[in-house]
Amino acid sequence: MQDLLIQNAKVVLFENDDITIKKADVLVQEGKISKIEENIPEEMAKNAKIIDARNHILMPGFINTHAHIPMSIFRETTEGVKLYDWLHKIIWPMEEKLTKEDVYWASMLSFIEMISTGTTCINDQYFMQDAIRKAARDVGARAVLTRTIIGEKEEALEKIAEFKNFYETRDQKDDLITYSVAPHALYTCSKETLQMTADLAKDFHLPIHVHFLESIDEIEDIKQKHGKRAVEVLKQHFDGIHTILAHAVHLDDKDIEILKTMDCGIAHNPISNLRLGCSIADTTSYLQNGINVALGTDGQGSRK
Ligand SMILES: [Zn+2]
Repeated sequence: MQDLLIQNAKVVLFENDDITIKKADVLVQEGKISKIEENIPEEMAKNAKIIDARNHILMPGFINTHAHIPMSIFRETTEGVKLYDWLHKIIWPMEEKLTKEDVYWASMLSFIEMISTGTTCINDQYFMQDAIRKAARDVGARAVLTRTIIGEKEEALEKIAEFKNFYETRDQKDDLITYSVAPHALYTCSKETLQMTADLAKDFHLPIHVHFLESIDEIEDIKQKHGKRAVEVLKQHFDGIHTILAHAVHLDDKDIEILKTMDCGIAHNPISNLRLGCSIADTTSYLQNGINVALGTDGQGSRK
């Protein structure tokens, strides 16, 4: 990897719980930041690529905490439809026709978009995961990858086998790509499926990444499917496992009290939520209750 000297940048520094902005040069040697100082002499950076970042901000990359990386080719498919109709009538039928090559190139397009807006780490939930991993490696992005697990036991077992194969064929030296276990959602997974994903996460010491209370309809659907409130289902299966909840739009005070006792954070996707008519998550209240909230984009199908 070529060394890099970035000159004259306004560098955003995170030190001792403080954020400061300082005009400085940054030297990157062998892939690691080795110096942040005013006026680093060019002789210290022999053979380095030099970038003049005057009038630019230099900061750590953004982390996109909930995405479906290959969905760059499904942009604007959501006009005028709500979540369930969009999934069943538009997106899932189109996704059935995807080839691995489609997924590779669609992922490349998303990586280019994300890197161009400063996003260097993406938490994904999709399928044809080998093609996504190849694209992530080819661009050098940091990503948390998985194979979405959905459905009743029989269907889920096939997907779990795919996930295991994906995880077991990982390059253990590659610290840019890590993994999560991803049950699609509580309303699309049976009780057995949820428990199998929890067991998998515990066996492999991986986090859970799950869609949670995105649309208002889910509240009743989960109650019908599992016989209890969504947050109780979550606690029953995933307590003690680090869990990333995508959306969590429809939480009441009782839900928040239970989530506070769990190791979970919320991936907030405001643009997707509004475009699919799912309402706005009360992130102020989540943060006031000590629940971590981070931003995600969701797939481009549900945003511009
Ligand atoms: Zn999503």
